[in-house]
Amino acid sequence: MSVKPPEKVQSLNPGEKFNFRCGPDVSCFTECCRALDLALTPYDVLRLRKSLGLDSATFLQRYAVIEQQQDEAFPQVFLAMLDDDRNRCPFVCADGCTVYQDRPAACRAYPVGRGLRMTTCRNRLQEIFVLVREDHCQGFAAGGETTPEDWMADQGLEPYNRFSDAMLPLLRHPIILQGWEPNPDQQREYLHTLYQLDDFRSRVEAGELALPGQETAGSLAELDDYQLLLAAIDWLPTTWPEHKSDGRLNKV
Ligand code: SF4
Ligand code: SF4
Repeated sequence: MSVKPPEKVQSLNPGEKFNFRCGPDVSCFTECCRALDLALTPYDVLRLRKSLGLDSATFLQRYAVIEQQQDEAFPQVFLAMLDDDRNRCPFVCADGCTVYQDRPAACRAYPVGRGLRMTTCRNRLQEIFVLVREDHCQGFAAGGETTPEDWMADQGLEPYNRFSDAMLPLLRHPIILQGWEPNPDQQREYLHTLYQLDDFRSRVEAGELALPGQETAGSLAELDDYQLLLAAIDWLPTTWPEHKSDGRLNKV
């Protein structure tokens, strides 16, 4: 029995060159579009479900698996792989990705991983990159020289990264860092607010919740879905307990 070697992950400096190219002419084309733990961000879901012409609830029901990991504050949304012998992505076909223009961030970025770290100088955020070298991927031998920044730009990741970065203050909110554990209602609200934006718009329109500065129906109508998602990301923590600088939580 052969044992699968571990993924090889190496750090990449900003501007560092590496060779990679992917396309229909590589021998492994679409081989990676299967058996994936592909986490979807709220922005991924918004792009995908609009591309497919689906409302959020239908998209989540058809294409998502929602899992609550023990050590995570909030549930995660994964793209459901098909229950076939290859465990394929529901969007792959012989010609490639059928949702290519709106494919998720993880598919675009591969084989580059991007993260943010806080610098000691003025607490500024700095991008960090890694390169994932998996044995089955022939793209490293297919030619094409690039850098992490050029790869991100070529793959259209700018808006995806912008929305992921907007999620950071929420996911690294002081009360989460202080160990707050949201209850099941608060976990459901997280999913409902961020992954069902059409419902969120309806709730704001119905006056069930108020966005700061968006009290009138007219101003709400002016927000497109992408602006509304940013507003939802800002709004959600206002429903959480207040944190205190001494680390104690005010219960709501
Ligand atoms: S969404 Fe597209 S690129 Fe991503 S795994 Fe599925 S078929 Fe492949
Ligand atoms: S080159 Fe890598 S990313 Fe491209 S299809 Fe092959 S395995 Fe997937």
